[in-house]
Amino acid sequence: VGHEHDALVVLESQLERLGFEVDRLALDDDFADDPLAGVPSRSYAGRFDVVGHRGGDAKRSLLLNGHIDVVPAEEPGLWTTDPFTPVRRDGWLWGRGAGDMKAGFAMGTLAIRAADAVSPGAAQGPLTFLGVIEEECTGNGTLAAARAGLLADAVVLLEPTDLNVMLGGVGVLWADLEIDGFAAHAESADRAVNPIEVALRLMPSLRRFEEYMNTSFADPVFEAVEQPYNLNIGVIHAGDWPSSVPPIARMRLRMGYPREWTPDEAESRLRAAVASAGAADAWLAQHPARLRCTGFRAEGYALPASDPLVKAVSRAHADAHGALPSTFALGSTTDARYYVNNFDRPALCYGPVARDIHGVDERVELASIVRGAKTLARFLLRWWSA
Ligand SMILES: [Zn+2]
Repeated sequence: VGHEHDALVVLESQLERLGFEVDRLALDDDFADDPLAGVPSRSYAGRFDVVGHRGGDAKRSLLLNGHIDVVPAEEPGLWTTDPFTPVRRDGWLWGRGAGDMKAGFAMGTLAIRAADAVSPGAAQGPLTFLGVIEEECTGNGTLAAARAGLLADAVVLLEPTDLNVMLGGVGVLWADLEIDGFAAHAESADRAVNPIEVALRLMPSLRRFEEYMNTSFADPVFEAVEQPYNLNIGVIHAGDWPSSVPPIARMRLRMGYPREWTPDEAESRLRAAVASAGAADAWLAQHPARLRCTGFRAEGYALPASDPLVKAVSRAHADAHGALPSTFALGSTTDARYYVNNFDRPALCYGPVARDIHGVDERVELASIVRGAKTLARFLLRWWSA
């Protein structure tokens, strides 16, 4: 987050090569007040989305959306290659962001180039190619573009989907928890309060809350997902010295939640789950954990499988590869939610075959970028010929 500039410049030059008129859409810091926005972690000064436009005045318009941001690569020493030096090996490209989702940009631009080469002038309907920031933490890049009127009759997000069609995702909320201890020399640790141990005592309540969501909110959209609503502790930090009892522990968590909840409802239920841990714990009762929302305030979403956009992408895939792709939803989110939930535009994700995104040794199968482009090029040509 905050280091998107150079990658966006690469995207700009690629779009210009394909005949796009390229603009920058600046985000401004007031944007955090938008009721649909996530909570930004840093200023938007100098940061922007890239917007490419081309094509005339055909009946229908189309928007391709990709996010330029990547998640960090923790413990680079565990990787078999340096996460930020892309390496081709055994038909795969290895590196953080290779699959999620620089490969999608490659697939999108390749498809446009192929459509232009095969059928010059045919893929010249109104086409917007959007490269956004902050898909991985707020969604504010896509929201800002939609608020600015950068919409179309249909949206394809070029996320890695193993060349299947992704239709939906759960709600996602981020929150930071701050837990007080009582600092001391380790010699008197028995009379102090270690906030790391207090933090661990919150876990049974958090797991009970997770179980409640997963057992009480069955959603046919996530039928194939064993546990759609995961509550994950992604960061824990406390202390700086083995012989000291730390004063405070901090945990950062990400919670998946049901589609019927708003972000506010998800937040208040999470607060209640944290508070319930305090009810049975003398220290927490006196020193309640402080909860602050950061990042995602994403609602769950689902595009109906019957939507004509699903049929059009699936048919293009079948033409290129001989069989229909599957459709699926995941216990995560994508920027498609804004188009589907808030702007009444059909949106789905379709993209290359990637492995270990957000994990160690992220990689994308290079041939799948070409296979995906074969689908997308057919889809583009049909979109304006229909
Ligand atoms: Zn992604």
